[in-house]
Amino acid sequence: MTAATDRFALPGILKLQPYSPGMPIDELQRRLGLSNVVKLASNENPLGPSPQVRAVLADAVQGNLALYPDGSGYALKRALSTYHDIAPECITLGNGSNDLLEFLSRIFLGPGRAALFSAHAFAVYALATQAQDAEAVVAPSLPADHPDAPYGHDLAAFSRVLAQRDDISLVFIANPNNPTGTSLSAEAVEAFLATVPPHVVVAYDEAYFDYMAPAHRGDATQWLTRFPNVVICRTFSKAYGLAGLRAGYSLSSPRIADLLNRVRQPFNLNSLALLAAEHALADQEHVGESVTLNIRERGRLTDACEALGLRVLPSQANFIAIDFGRDAAPLQQGLLEQGVIVRPMASYDMPTFLRVSVGTERENDRFLSALETLLA
Ligand SMILES: *Cc1c(COP(=O)(O)O)cnc(C)c1O
Repeated sequence: MTAATDRFALPGILKLQPYSPGMPIDELQRRLGLSNVVKLASNENPLGPSPQVRAVLADAVQGNLALYPDGSGYALKRALSTYHDIAPECITLGNGSNDLLEFLSRIFLGPGRAALFSAHAFAVYALATQAQDAEAVVAPSLPADHPDAPYGHDLAAFSRVLAQRDDISLVFIANPNNPTGTSLSAEAVEAFLATVPPHVVVAYDEAYFDYMAPAHRGDATQWLTRFPNVVICRTFSKAYGLAGLRAGYSLSSPRIADLLNRVRQPFNLNSLALLAAEHALADQEHVGESVTLNIRERGRLTDACEALGLRVLPSQANFIAIDFGRDAAPLQQGLLEQGVIVRPMASYDMPTFLRVSVGTERENDRFLSALETLLA
């Protein structure tokens, strides 16, 4: 479908396929007339936000929401500055970390420029690149039978592309990666960064950082002095349980933060999101409980799927990618009909897989029993 008004629409936008999010619970309930729908499709924290955050928000809605929020995000940045031991000038706030990925694309991508990311990586990298009419260079992933990170990022392949092309301005790396759940060691990432030309900006997306085993984690903030071309992206949507409020941030050189702030709309975080994020950061105990639940249930889900003869990719995140060895679309449909929403991975070129977020014990049991019914 086209219209006369398409004439001056930017070519990159006309070719864009909108992001398709996990189906909302309400929608499936309406469609099926079911009341007890379980959503394990968007990697949210099944415990939700910390009780302190809920209390602060309940008070805040009684406050003056007619006033604009603090556009500088002073209090949240101060808290993040202490938490990461980094100067506030290095921090940029985003309406979710998605916002920051878009800012980076707007600053560094455009016609004649190219973005580099891995096959089977987060869908937003391709969308943000396309919207800027830049070229997407997709590095092949590690092979399906790789012992540590099947389908994961192949940083040697990234380095080869960077050595061959001089038009790459932005590199996206997710660690751990979504939708595979695979992770890279901090040493491997650091060694890769040493091969990246200093004018190439690296968006290092740590959306699932808190779910990584401590032995896998690095401290990327330590890299910023040596590699001022690195931008670390973090979010409050996953382990902090605030996906509904939209809050994320980046850590970068002050220079890149300055550029990010030029494209950021002045009030990109609303006052409730600012407040919630500040208090969520303060309640690390809640993050710890969320992570403990995740590790226990991720292990249980993985074992149960493997007992059904299915392959599960090694995950350092709050979801698992399950290989059914055949087109998974009918299985996804079969789960939907039983009121369980999971994520298909066909759009990630992995049509035999489903991605399942780790829920509460009860939610995971619902998924497992629906799956057993289908496979029986
Ligand atoms: C969920 C996710 C994000 C974060 O999205 P928000 O906009 O912060 O909600 C970023 N990167 C990856 C890889 C993700 O999976």
